[in-house]
Amino acid sequence: MTSLNPVNPSNNPDEFEKRALNLFEQGDKEVWIKEKNDGKIYFRYMAPVFREESCLVCHEEQQQRDKTDKEKRFIRGGISVKFDISRIEKSLKIHAQLILFLGILSTSLFLGIIYLFTVKLMKELSKSHQKIQQMAITDELTKLYNRRYFYSKLTEEFEKAKRYKRDISCIMIDIDFFKKVNDNYGHHVGDDVLRNIADTIKSTCRSVDTIARYGGEEIVVLLPETNKEKAFLVAEKIRKVVEKIEIPYDKGDNIQITISSGVSGLLSDDLEKVTDSNQLVKDADIALYQAKTNGRNRVEIYTEQSLSLSV
Ligand code: GH3
Ligand code: MG
Ligand code: MG
Repeated sequence: MTSLNPVNPSNNPDEFEKRALNLFEQGDKEVWIKEKNDGKIYFRYMAPVFREESCLVCHEEQQQRDKTDKEKRFIRGGISVKFDISRIEKSLKIHAQLILFLGILSTSLFLGIIYLFTVKLMKELSKSHQKIQQMAITDELTKLYNRRYFYSKLTEEFEKAKRYKRDISCIMIDIDFFKKVNDNYGHHVGDDVLRNIADTIKSTCRSVDTIARYGGEEIVVLLPETNKEKAFLVAEKIRKVVEKIEIPYDKGDNIQITISSGVSGLLSDDLEKVTDSNQLVKDADIALYQAKTNGRNRVEIYTEQSLSLSV
């Protein structure tokens, strides 16, 4: 118990109590603070004590003294309590640090998961994009390039050959009597034959050559930096390999296939005069027609003479 005007001088208020008592005089209902002292933390609390009739038994004289001040008449003093809350504060601090640590950990974990998920998604997207791009230029049955891609590559290689003065050649391949294969063994066997021949051509050509499915059973090969004599040797090699292929069919029966090819080429010196890259394909087609009319299972090279023969 303390008061601004104590009966017992040992109840004199300290600084906090004085301030609280003054605040009570102004109408405050309670006052508290946290105070540091000798390395400890204290919680201090004060509440006012109001003057009642029973108090006047001992404090009448004091009542007389205070009569002048209207406010003071009602507040006798205050009850002051003080607790050592050092341990509570310490444990609160530890808990706050733990909560902060857990908060940072869970946020980092969450962000980490989001990051990994995003990276994975981006990879999947890039893979799908690549797959779609690949599908757009690939023939589904043979897995060779499709005709559209072949033409874009032809334009590119033709321009390169012109710029760097290099030869360029083309082989047009057509399976002989393929309709009979379908008619005799069925369409799915025909598909197997097509796949087989496509793989054979792929393994015989260089990686710089562009092999594409030109039409139904026609395959075209573009050979950069190659003259038509060298291209002829490649076409002959393919023809001989295909001739030897034996595609197994029912009960030990094997299917044998032959192909005919037309070869065309433009020498570096002649390229200046040619404006249309399609000329290379047209010439190879004429040579192929010649190979067919000359008995099939053979390779013909395009010459000026071929043109007159085809007309
Ligand atoms: P030629 O020696 O004159 O080339 O005779 P050919 O029978 O090969 O020629 P033709 O043009 O008469 O027939 C080509 C056949 O190729 C007809 C068609 O059914 C077949 N064909 C085209 N595309 C495919 C395919 O994707 N799969 C299968 N199985 N057959 C196909
Ligand atoms: Mg054919
Ligand atoms: Mg054909």
